[in-house]
Amino acid sequence: MNSKKKIIIAIDGHSSTGKSTLAKQLAKALDYVYIDTGAMYRAVTYYALLHNLISNDHFDKKRLIKELDNIQINFKYNPDLGYAEVFLNDQNIEKEIRQMRVSNFVSQIATVPEIRKKLVLQQRQIGKNKGVVMDGRDIGSVVFPDAELKIFMTAAPEVRARRRYEELINKGEKVSYDEVLQNVVQRDQTDSTRATSPLIKTKDAIELDNSNLTLNEQFDKVLKLAKQKIADL
Ligand code: C5P
Repeated sequence: MNSKKKIIIAIDGHSSTGKSTLAKQLAKALDYVYIDTGAMYRAVTYYALLHNLISNDHFDKKRLIKELDNIQINFKYNPDLGYAEVFLNDQNIEKEIRQMRVSNFVSQIATVPEIRKKLVLQQRQIGKNKGVVMDGRDIGSVVFPDAELKIFMTAAPEVRARRRYEELINKGEKVSYDEVLQNVVQRDQTDSTRATSPLIKTKDAIELDNSNLTLNEQFDKVLKLAKQKIADL
């Protein structure tokens, strides 16, 4: 493939729609870099929990904003896994950030404009040479509004909660299906209604409802679209 002909693939959508699974498959097939921007918001949330800046009954937003310079988030490619893992101040926190404790607070953290500003800057820097697949909530609308391919993923909340529940149970977490469903619905609501960079489907995004699609069907469909965009350059 001509290395100069590279595009940006933006994958946005509702929680637990399998954005990262699709993004990883695409990155591998195209030899692109995969960036999980949700992991960056999760990393900030993990920091806030670690430093007692957020709990069920308080959120010290001011303090967290003040401490943003102490929060360094990096991705390091793990060849065994085939994707980059997220590090907070040089500590691998890939496992920790997937826990329900983090999921329960991340959307609240992601409403803070100062936090978004810092992370969006870093995301743009990573994607400046193209050849990236980035997944999140505002990639096609804010981070890379000129991305050549934009996918908006959705599925019925019950389907998404079931998938996420099984994933967490397989990892040994003690959660109930109802708790996971509630979290998925709550995050969609917070992400779609926040004032700064809400989750929206842009006009030029292609909607992909995968309630009834297999992973392979979905992957084939989007890979074809991506190859077409690259050929059109
Ligand atoms: O993708 P993931 O579910 O890991 O994202 C966790 C949360 O981070 C989302 O529910 C959303 O609140 C926030 N997020 C965001 N913007 C992004 C990526 C994630 O607001 N680009």
